[in-house]
Amino acid sequence: MGLSNTLSCIVLSCLVLTACSTSPTGRSQLNLFGNSLDQQGVAAFTAIKQKMPTSTNTKANELVQCIVDSMLPIVNARYGSQEWEAVVFDDEQINAFAVPGGKIGVYTGILNVAQTPDQLAAIIGHEIGHVIAQHAAERASIQLGAQALLIGSQIAMQANEVSTIEQQTYMSILGLGAVIGVSLPYSRTHESEADLIGLELMVQAGYSPHAAVELWENMSAAKDNQKVPPELLSTHPSAQTRIRQLQQAIPKVVKKHAGNISKNTC
Ligand SMILES: [Zn+2]
Repeated sequence: MGLSNTLSCIVLSCLVLTACSTSPTGRSQLNLFGNSLDQQGVAAFTAIKQKMPTSTNTKANELVQCIVDSMLPIVNARYGSQEWEAVVFDDEQINAFAVPGGKIGVYTGILNVAQTPDQLAAIIGHEIGHVIAQHAAERASIQLGAQALLIGSQIAMQANEVSTIEQQTYMSILGLGAVIGVSLPYSRTHESEADLIGLELMVQAGYSPHAAVELWENMSAAKDNQKVPPELLSTHPSAQTRIRQLQQAIPKVVKKHAGNISKNTC
């Protein structure tokens, strides 16, 4: 009892009382951390830079920088400026990432899939989207909440004299539920939301929105040779789901920023 009970009560009270905010797409989100993860994000990014070689491909570096620079005035105007940094890492993974504090990593492997500047803009817009929607803080908040619920259930079972073996079974079911039922759907929500934020950013910055669809078609083709887990257990929506969601969103975004399309020169 004692400490864990107190901890779960404190966490649950915080969750209920204080922690709701609104994401850039207007979605309610649980956020116990706000911007307080920025420092950790910057430290993590510094550590990655020390470990992983950065790309010496001038063209790739210039292109990534050009795309980031084309989006930042829009981002800074809406969300306040922070010290954004984008680094191209020399690694054949088909991936990119973003951490709190405005740090973006692009692996050279993804440049084989994002074949045009507009397609790469879809990736960079998506990564900026994760940062400005504070997805890392939301994910950490949900995990903290799920842990508090698990601790709370364990205390309740101990109080009701449920046997240890039964307790372990319940806890493993609850643990799996916490992963599949809580964490992963939010991750898929985050991916879809980052896609939509990225789509709007890329259109506003003058790229073709259809490049986002092309990107996911390329991604789908590139992944055919790899073993990708089915969507239910994946942290990412399937390429088909993302393409459908993007196609649905394109007309509205195009209408909103019609004057900007295809004006970008990266
Ligand atoms: Zn993502």
